[in-house]
Amino acid sequence: MPRWILHVDMDAFYASVEELDHPELRGKPVIVAGPEPRGVVATASYSARKFGVRSGMPTAQAKRLCPQGIFLPPRFERYEEVAQKVRAILREYSPVLEPISLDEAFLDLTGTELLHGPPEKVAAEIHARIPRETGLSCSVGLGPNKLLAKLASDSAKPGGLRIVRPEEVQSFLDPLPVEDLWGVGPKTAERLWEKGIRTVRDLREIPVGLLRSWFGQKGGEALWQLARGIDESPVVPVRAAKSISNEVTYPEDLFEREKILAELRRLALLVADRLREEGFLAQTVQIKVRFSNFVTSTRQTKLPAPTDHPLILAEEAVGLFSRVGVPPGQGIRLLGVGLADLVPATFRPIPLFPDPKLGEALWEVRRKFGPDSLGLGPTGLK
Ligand SMILES: [Mg+2]
Repeated sequence: MPRWILHVDMDAFYASVEELDHPELRGKPVIVAGPEPRGVVATASYSARKFGVRSGMPTAQAKRLCPQGIFLPPRFERYEEVAQKVRAILREYSPVLEPISLDEAFLDLTGTELLHGPPEKVAAEIHARIPRETGLSCSVGLGPNKLLAKLASDSAKPGGLRIVRPEEVQSFLDPLPVEDLWGVGPKTAERLWEKGIRTVRDLREIPVGLLRSWFGQKGGEALWQLARGIDESPVVPVRAAKSISNEVTYPEDLFEREKILAELRRLALLVADRLREEGFLAQTVQIKVRFSNFVTSTRQTKLPAPTDHPLILAEEAVGLFSRVGVPPGQGIRLLGVGLADLVPATFRPIPLFPDPKLGEALWEVRRKFGPDSLGLGPTGLK
């Protein structure tokens, strides 16, 4: 089966999020950067790039190049929030998602045709949905492997969509400068230039034996493959954080047991929502309870198998509370629910738990209408 890999790259991501949140900055030279003297530029808007400002450049140098620039400190939590929205859209089309950074991800669409239609159509749909649903511009590339997908989205920047079909690979690659190939670092590029090799077409004309003698067995073969657009590397779903949690400090301590259990269920459903959005299953449920006297107690339990079933997770959280001895006279000032031992949902085991459909339905309603649309009563949804 031919592979179809999609690459999404948000355009000038941090700067674009700042412009989204502060419309008065739109079109201005916005530069998200760490403070001087040691800070560097994280992202420059396209308008700031006209002044020569680039990411990775010291902030001081950017200020010299673009004194009228609007320099803002990064707000990673906010960028992560937007990145999660983008990833949730992508996961609707395939669970095999590999985030590369907050603003870039690969998605393996191989074999999703029956569910979602031709990958070309899916790519166009994703390319239209991300700006519509996040207010931010993105570039999308689709190709037979990661190398081509990434090069395709690069060539579509900013805001475009580029599809490279298997029969177009060579004509797409040939005119590109060799340094554009992934895996050709500045040193290799320089050695290739010295030999008069500037484009991928030039590189493709060099016999593999000669490449081996120049760059060693492994390096030479890698270059030979890159020049032909060969890249077998898989899209590997990974997760940066090892757990997902949510906690709340209450303005007034909670004393009623019913109220406490209802809160635990509410928090459990919120973390279960996030678990689903990020495409994971959890095998460990944790709770954190802080009493009026600030003493904190935690409990955790390991499930027989990983799950994202919201009802199971909520009932486990409630069950854990019965193992917390609340000291006499103490109220609860903080409650937290966490999920750990996460595995990608692609490894979903055969359902071990009751009512998978009920869990599915609960998630669907909350996703469409928000977390307040459907929760659990004081005794749970039973
Ligand atoms: Mg980007």
